[in-house]
Amino acid sequence: MPLFKPEKKQIAQNAGKWDVVISEDMCKACGFCLQICPVDVFAWRRTANRLGWFPMYVAHEANCIGCMLCYQICPDFCINVAPKAEAEPAVAS
Ligand code: SF4
Ligand code: SF4
Repeated sequence: MPLFKPEKKQIAQNAGKWDVVISEDMCKACGFCLQICPVDVFAWRRTANRLGWFPMYVAHEANCIGCMLCYQICPDFCINVAPKAEAEPAVAS
């Protein structure tokens, strides 16, 4: 039985503005992030990491709404979420 039953959300206006990074070699495949993400950013990888687990990977980064729930729940501090860098403005000559 899942630990969480998060309410799934529509992809919101601020989606696509976040970089989501997982340290896959540190992931112990508990699945907490998969359960709690309201917009299904994560998925299982089919190859094992160096710990022998089949870790999470960032499958749908463009869905991310920056809620930070995954960052807060990961017990091994594997996930980082940060705003995407703004594009460099064109330099006037
Ligand atoms: S911050 Fe994490 S939990 Fe929230 S939408 Fe992005 S990937 Fe999902
Ligand atoms: S919560 Fe952390 S340790 Fe658990 S599956 Fe997600 S990334 Fe891996």
